[in-house]
Amino acid sequence: MERSTIVRVHEGLHARPATRFVRLAKSFEADVEIVKEGKAVSAKSSVKLMLLSVKENQEVTVRANGADAAEAVEALIGYLENPRAGLDEEQGTETKTAVEPTTKAVAPEAANDESKDRLRGVAASEGAAVGRAFAFFPRQVDRQPHLVAAHEIDAEIARLRTAVGQVRARMTKALADASLAESDRAIVAALMDIAADEALIGGAEALVRKGLDAVSAVIGATEATAAEFAAVEDSYLRARTDDINAVGRQISLALLGEEEPDLSGIPDGAILIADDIGAWDLARAPLNRIGGIVCGKGGATSHIAIIARSHSVPAVLGLGDRIRDLAMAKEIAIDGGRGWVAADPDEPTRSEILKLGEAAVKERAMLAAFKDTVPRRADGTVIEVAANLGSLEEIEAAKEAGAMGVGLFRTELLFMRHTHLPSEDLQAETYATLAKAFAPWPVIIRTLDIGGDKPVAGIEFPQEENPFLGWRGIRMCLDRPDIFKVQLRALLRAAVNGNVKVMLPMVSDLAEVEQSKVLIEECIAELTASSTPFARFELGVMIETPAAVLIAPQLAKHVAFFSIGTNDLTQYIMAADRLNSAVARLNDVTNPAVMAAIEITAKAAVEAGIMVGMCGEAAGRPDLIARFIRSGLTELSMSPSSIQRAKKAIAEGVLGAGATG
Ligand code: PEP
Ligand code: MG
Repeated sequence: MERSTIVRVHEGLHARPATRFVRLAKSFEADVEIVKEGKAVSAKSSVKLMLLSVKENQEVTVRANGADAAEAVEALIGYLENPRAGLDEEQGTETKTAVEPTTKAVAPEAANDESKDRLRGVAASEGAAVGRAFAFFPRQVDRQPHLVAAHEIDAEIARLRTAVGQVRARMTKALADASLAESDRAIVAALMDIAADEALIGGAEALVRKGLDAVSAVIGATEATAAEFAAVEDSYLRARTDDINAVGRQISLALLGEEEPDLSGIPDGAILIADDIGAWDLARAPLNRIGGIVCGKGGATSHIAIIARSHSVPAVLGLGDRIRDLAMAKEIAIDGGRGWVAADPDEPTRSEILKLGEAAVKERAMLAAFKDTVPRRADGTVIEVAANLGSLEEIEAAKEAGAMGVGLFRTELLFMRHTHLPSEDLQAETYATLAKAFAPWPVIIRTLDIGGDKPVAGIEFPQEENPFLGWRGIRMCLDRPDIFKVQLRALLRAAVNGNVKVMLPMVSDLAEVEQSKVLIEECIAELTASSTPFARFELGVMIETPAAVLIAPQLAKHVAFFSIGTNDLTQYIMAADRLNSAVARLNDVTNPAVMAAIEITAKAAVEAGIMVGMCGEAAGRPDLIARFIRSGLTELSMSPSSIQRAKKAIAEGVLGAGATG
């Protein structure tokens, strides 16, 4: 029994719709296969199905054999022909993304700061500490393959099934924990699906039936499945390799009777040393007790860095293989501000860091006095000192720091965290939560700024020679109105809260603003037609390309505000890749060329009477703030950890005019 059809499922059978499809297939007794371009896979394995990579508008055949074959084919074909199949359930399965957000270059310090005892990495979160080393290198599961006698095979399979059951039970227990964050819940749910998948578990059982011991069989099946994922072209699917390995590892450990180490037992004030810390481990780590984080992987804008900064934990990341040199250390000194660490530091280093650490604690206590300061210019205009955020988890830290709203909400993380494009409802809820948290201060939400270097489930990116000059930000969004309009509708819905503003990234042409406005009007018409409550929002643009600077006077006539993105503006003005440390010297916002671009932008905004702010890293620099404000900037948005220092700089009269509390 078989039937062919054209797949209408939105974005095809990627993670969530694939999982739902598999669940439906499993509800029938019949053996069911799905065939694409001559390749047939079991419809009861989400791993195999994901690897088949069934896209929207492709032709597939559903083939079934068994008692209820006809019903199975009918139900599955119906599913494939439903554009919204698998997408309608709110808060669909999120999973960890194995890919980090782009790492921004951190200018290397003067070479003389480097000594043989100090390992330099990315200065990801400032602060200094000396603490006991806590090495977190989950060990490789040893493979000692041995053959199992024919009469022991059934018992070995039973052992394997028990181990799988234990892992799934642990995951079920984790899911039942009410304190588990929604995003972490989704990570566990995704891993649980894999732990039940016949490609992995069935593959392992087949190896045991051939006489291999269960641990080796699990490792073998994991490697084979992970290799299939690693080989596919789709960068998102490639990233799923980590999930497969994580599940295989947990089953192997259960077979060996070993516990996966976790971070809950880390001693107070210890410095965590790891090659990488996955989202799942980080979510369970007691960040308020950790003295510092040192990692082989990660950059200044990686998830670890963002979380470390929002908890004021010093962090040095991106040490690469040198992280292994720290694995045996007893004590670690870390300077997150300058980006170096020392293993078993000598006395002068210890006391230098301890002094720095004490000074930082004192400074934090002193700066806390500025938390509620509302800085003003001499003419009474409020200078908004706002926060740059990437997720709702950071709201608390930003409010704690005294953020006057949000000057940049990077929506990328929301897209990168999920195994499918976040639904309009999920986005609207996220943006509304943000708006409510900071009301009446404004929250500026940036529309999706994603490029070929950051995979997102459901968006195919071409391989590009120069992703920074490529299909990113507003360019991609305008080419994909199906994705962009979902976000715009969600933003319009969240705007009923009254304090939502929206800005477009990477604008280099007035037409991009005009086209965005057309799409916004279309969204308004759609929301009106469906009687969905919404409100209009102020639309602004990021000024982060030289083109935008040069047309700033024209742009100012069409938007409500500018926000200067100095991170990208600097790299584009100076033609110096922000990720390339060899040109870090040129990647300097204080270069006269960049400063001139900022002045031109501010002047155009002031003359047009629109608000101009800044959300690049430079906004938090106390040495530059006075200059920015003199140029006409009235909003400065920064990492929450910089807010109080910036407020102090303004309040202490760097403007030559009294700022008031
Ligand atoms: C910038 O470019 O300055 C900016 C704030 O955006 P991002 O760092 O997210 O590219
Ligand atoms: Mg940018």
